[in-house]
Amino acid sequence: RGEMTVGDLAKLLHKDASEIIKKLMFLGVMATINQEIDLDTIQLITQEYNIEIELKLPVEEDPFEIVEKADEADKMQDRPPVVTIMGHVDHGKTTLLDAIRKSNVTEGEAGGITQHIGAYQVEVNQKKITFLDTPGHEAFTTMRARGSKVTDITILVVAADDGVMPQTIEAINHAKAANVPIIVAVNKIDKPDANPDRIKQELTEYELVPEEWGGDTIFVNISAKNRMNLEELLEMILLVAEVQEYKANPDKEARATVLEAELDKGKGPVARILVQEGTLRVGDPFVAGVCFGRVRAMVSDKGRRLKDAGPSTPVEITGLTEVPQAGDRLIGFEDERKAREISDKRAINLRQSELNASSRVTLDDLYKHI
Ligand code: GDP
Ligand code: MG
Repeated sequence: RGEMTVGDLAKLLHKDASEIIKKLMFLGVMATINQEIDLDTIQLITQEYNIEIELKLPVEEDPFEIVEKADEADKMQDRPPVVTIMGHVDHGKTTLLDAIRKSNVTEGEAGGITQHIGAYQVEVNQKKITFLDTPGHEAFTTMRARGSKVTDITILVVAADDGVMPQTIEAINHAKAANVPIIVAVNKIDKPDANPDRIKQELTEYELVPEEWGGDTIFVNISAKNRMNLEELLEMILLVAEVQEYKANPDKEARATVLEAELDKGKGPVARILVQEGTLRVGDPFVAGVCFGRVRAMVSDKGRRLKDAGPSTPVEITGLTEVPQAGDRLIGFEDERKAREISDKRAINLRQSELNASSRVTLDDLYKHI
């Protein structure tokens, strides 16, 4: 990975390098096309074009990474699939997430409080499915930018009265890059101008070919608004899960990913996490990114207090000393001293690499926001 040059920046912005060089001259910077430029200079230029850039967090090598031993095969147990809903704006992601959540509140919980904890679980045919409830692409992008993989299956929502749109394609690219199977939910089929076959046709261009046309992509026609065919969609998720055989070892210290975190006035730092391996228990010391913690309380998506949480379980936890970042890995420890030591060293390391990063930018580090 080379440093970013004037030429790289020109390419990124779709401008002539000579134009960039001219702008740099006006800013008092003499530069050639192959000259490396730093973040501040890049920002001056992008401001000129009214383009916002954002530094993508490099996946730093962590000198204090815990070396994972491979789990013994006989310790592995089935775990619920973790599903993300993606698609173009207004195609019905939020409506679908809400509809699934509501249609699945069991009797004992009916009218009960469901909490927003970044994800929720539903039960279909005695099997659980975990949905990440940050619809859209931020969750996925942030997580992937930080090197964590949380999703097993992507539901791609496409409105049958609209068609394949830019964020549809973006979602397909995300899922493909992460090697996550896609189930297509063709939504809004209740609408008079719905044309689900056109959606199928359009998606073949992106290698999403329905089974009846010789492909292997599952398509389900739904109406999130009228709660039509949701059961079928959920069954298809379970079918994919059965084929993929998602497993984890519940019998070790927890490995989880932070989905969201914030400072709560009453509770202090709060993190909503997805446990992926092992089991997290109240009282467990842990490291989340550079933060130390000891689980004080755990609450489920149904608002219930939990003593422990196994693989694919979303929970809200308190007991952190600081607010971690979305995408941070959380690792449980038996030994509190060890957890403290690692979080301290990581914090120092992070400060150091932040100092370094502020003067070094590469093409890969930049997202373009228009
Ligand atoms: P998001 O931007 O993808 O989260 O889309 P929303 O869930 O906010 O839905 C956008 C609009 O489409 C809202 O007005 C919904 O009521 C409507 N909508 C969502 N699903 C359906 C559906 O199945 N049928 C119809 N007719 N409207 C829907
Ligand atoms: Mg929405």
